[in-house]
Amino acid sequence: MQPPRLKNDCFALPPGVHWTPVDQAHARLRANLHCVTATETIRVTAAEGRFLATDVRAVRASPPAANSAVDGYGFAGPAGDGVQILPLASGRAAAGVPFDGRVGAGQALRILTGASLPPGADTVVLQEDVTAEDGRIAFHGPLKRGANTRAAGEDVVDGAVVLPARTRLRAQELAILAATGVQDVSVHRPLRVGVLSTGNELCEVGKTATASQIYDANRPMLLSLVERWGFGAVDLGHVGDDRDALRARLDAGAGKADVILTSGGASAGDEDHVSALLGETGSVELWRIAIKPGRPLALGIWQGVPVFGLPGNPVAAFVCTLIFAEPAFRVLAGGDWRVPQGFQVPAAFAKTKKPGRREYLRARINPDGAAEAFRSEGSGRISGLAWADGLVELDDGARKIAPGDMVRYIPFTSFGFD
Ligand code: AMP
Ligand code: MG
Repeated sequence: MQPPRLKNDCFALPPGVHWTPVDQAHARLRANLHCVTATETIRVTAAEGRFLATDVRAVRASPPAANSAVDGYGFAGPAGDGVQILPLASGRAAAGVPFDGRVGAGQALRILTGASLPPGADTVVLQEDVTAEDGRIAFHGPLKRGANTRAAGEDVVDGAVVLPARTRLRAQELAILAATGVQDVSVHRPLRVGVLSTGNELCEVGKTATASQIYDANRPMLLSLVERWGFGAVDLGHVGDDRDALRARLDAGAGKADVILTSGGASAGDEDHVSALLGETGSVELWRIAIKPGRPLALGIWQGVPVFGLPGNPVAAFVCTLIFAEPAFRVLAGGDWRVPQGFQVPAAFAKTKKPGRREYLRARINPDGAAEAFRSEGSGRISGLAWADGLVELDDGARKIAPGDMVRYIPFTSFGFD
């Protein structure tokens, strides 16, 4: 089933807004984006990283039958106080090899972890607590009825919703789906994210740059992020500052990707062709976001496909991708909007921050558990991205931070990569 395309005006901002606060930008994305990927039914074992299209119910209970939680001896509980002596029935119950018979009243049966409890046994005494001799076992009571056993359905009952729609299937989810007898799941097809770099100055890795060129750092960075997020990375290459070439590349990209990430040319200058072209579609919104590093983010719809026009500066492109594109991708892919988990930690730096925009500092945790900030806030310092393990997020207001003051640290793992 193919969901409807996004509306052309879904990135529209209220008129008269100049600097959009990050929270407002998030709220608009959340309100206006929806899943754009079709659904398909596939084997659970092939579904890692996919988003569920429907709630999934258990096909059988987990565990399906009452069984032993330990290696020991099963009998009809409870056992009273003091020394208990029980004759052993012949045979045993093991995982996958049930005892075929009934444990007689007053008898015990050798039982191993995971074995179904045979009729006549509802309690297990741990083998380490038992002496077994001459066809009898002895142990000290008391022992409650049901001790050391797992009841049928104690984890999940048959027919219960195990996972709701929009859950992303990680290792853990695959385990519970398999355990509850679910064979196939209805999931969304992987979101295809096209990545395109723009700029006359760019030279791609593998070629020799002239003195006036710089290497295209954004494309490998963004393609890697997209892949780490488990989406389908589509390399749309690089185009110069040429409107016709860019138009042709966006046309091609819209046929191959569900969402396009461009970098460069997103402001309102002469060579800012991404924003200019998106403007021609009538769908563009040049979002001047009150964020550092970042600011211009050109959002638009090209032939039905959402385009995130990132700033060219690699540090700004990186931060804007984490803060805006990643949560948006999750929604487009069939998941829920996600707020990255941050932690309050002491600052290992001092800083005076002006009001008016939210700031993200390249940061990492030092051995004392405090957040260090990269020595330079210069947004051209790509080396700071490699140095960092996360971002410190400073709220929109003014702030004077002294070492030891608490700040919000968001590790890159909270953004779904490391
Ligand atoms: P722009 O947003 O196109 O004005 O670019 C802003 C800055 O980022 C300029 O200094 C560009 O040279 C630089 N830049 C743009 N795209 C890339 C890229 N793909 N890799 C590295 N730097 C870039
Ligand atoms: Mg440029």
